[in-house]
Formats: sequence, structure tokens, C-alpha cells
Amino acid sequence: MSKVLAFANQKGGVGKTTSAVNIAAALGKRGKKVLMVDMDPQGNSTSGVGIGKNTVKKSSYDVLIGNATIQDAISPTEFKNLSILPSTIALAGAEFELGEIEHCENCLKNALAAVADTYDYVIIDCPPSLSQLTVNALTAADGLVIPMQCEFFALEGLSQLMNSVKRVRQSYNPRLEITGILLTMYNGRLILSGQVVKELKKYYAEKIFKTTISRSVKLSEAPGFGKPICYYDPFGKSTQEYADVAKELVLRI
Ligand code: ATP
Ligand code: MG
Repeated sequence: MSKVLAFANQKGGVGKTTSAVNIAAALGKRGKKVLMVDMDPQGNSTSGVGIGKNTVKKSSYDVLIGNATIQDAISPTEFKNLSILPSTIALAGAEFELGEIEHCENCLKNALAAVADTYDYVIIDCPPSLSQLTVNALTAADGLVIPMQCEFFALEGLSQLMNSVKRVRQSYNPRLEITGILLTMYNGRLILSGQVVKELKKYYAEKIFKTTISRSVKLSEAPGFGKPICYYDPFGKSTQEYADVAKELVLRI
């Protein structure tokens, strides 16, 4: 049975996709069979693993609304043990169509059941919203990873996200756990980062990953080459950091 992890935070640009792609690739390198699921109409994780969006024939959209089987829509990548269920902009219309399906929050979960024996980990990259797409991801997930930036508004966003988690647990998925909070674009020398971390630790001390992800130009360059960081800059600091998070992750779930 695969372990399903949703990477979610309704706040935009906090490092969801970067973390999902690079942790997925790091797990693949460690010998785990990994499926990435792109649940964001922006398709950033699709291009991030080297799949051109205009080459995608069947996508997560088709799977969600029942136009394709998940096996038909999954494509291999050039990276070790890493496959992807890609997305295209068509997914932006799914919100409306899902609304017409009964128990639509289960669509992704039901689709993933067909490949549960094929992968060790399923890593779902969510859009920056608490939309039906994110609810589908949280309903399918065993664990939630929350990438966040150490800034003031992050804390406000976090309590909103925790409310959604509570609602999903009550209504659709009682087994959903918070696997961890990952601090991204971290600069320990900033006073603000220190203050935010202090505040976070008051409430979520044991949830915060020990490893933090530093700001790095290489990390922001890699998607432009369609490569996870461990292939783009194998000996760099970010590769080590994401390998360390992946190591922590497998001990948690
Ligand atoms: P969205 O909400 O739009 O889906 P996101 O939460 O998935 O965004 P990313 O796309 O991963 O966030 O990151 C936002 C931007 O910050 C991207 O340009 C990415 O390359 C860059 N970035 C992410 N992490 C780092 C980092 N540690 N150092 C430098 N740049 C980073
Ligand atoms: Mg993203």
C-alpha cells in the first residue's frame, strides 16, 4: 500500500511545488517508487520533472472527472523511480465539473486505489487554495506536509489551513495526519524568521522538520531545466537539505 502525502498551503509561492518535486525525486533516489500527482492547474510540478505541458495527452483532470484511467494518464519521467500524473490548465475547470459528481471529494482517492500497490509514495502537489482540488488531495492523503515561509502572515494562513484539516477529518478522512511543517526559503539570520519559528514552536513544536530549506538560486533555476535539484546540482547544499527532509519524512510515515 502506498503512503499518500499532500503538500498543501493555500498561501501562494511558499515552496509547495519545489518541495514536492525535490522530496519526490529524493525518495526515488533512495529506492522508493514514487508517483507525483500534479493537482495544480498551473502544472508547475509537471514541467518541474521535465514533462512539457503541451505533450500531455491525459492528465489529472481527465482522471478526476472519469475521462481516463489513472494508469493511462501516468507517465514515466527520466528520473529514477519517479512517475507523474501530470496536469494542464484544463484542471482549472474541474472545480465546476466535480461539483456535479456525487461525493466528488473522493474522486482522487478512488483513482489512486488502482495504483496503491505500484508505488511506495504518492506525493500530491496542491494549488494555492483550499478549493475542491485541495480537498480531494486531503481526502486521499495519509499525511499533510505544509511548506511555509517564515513571515508574519504565514501564521495566520496556518490556522486557516488547520481549520480545513479539521473539517476534512470530520467529514471525509479521519486518518489525515499532519506529517510535518517544512520551513522553506529559510534564513536563520533574519530576526523575523527567528520570531516566527518561536511562535510556531509554541503550537507545533514536534511537527516542524528539523531540516530547513535555505534560500538558493540553484533551486529556483532547476525547474527551468525540468530537473529536480538532485539531478541539476547533485553535490549542492539544497540537494543535501532535501535528502535530509526525505530521510526525516520516511521515519514519520
Ligand atoms: P504556488 O502557490 O504558485 O503553487 P508554490 O507554493 O508551489 O507556489 P514554488 O513554486 O515551489 O511555490 O516556489 C515559488 C517560487 O520560489 C518559485 O519561483 C521557486 O523557484 C522559488 N523557490 C522555492 N523555494 C526556494 C528556495 N529555497 N530558494 C530560492 N527560491 C525558491
Ligand atoms: Mg506550486
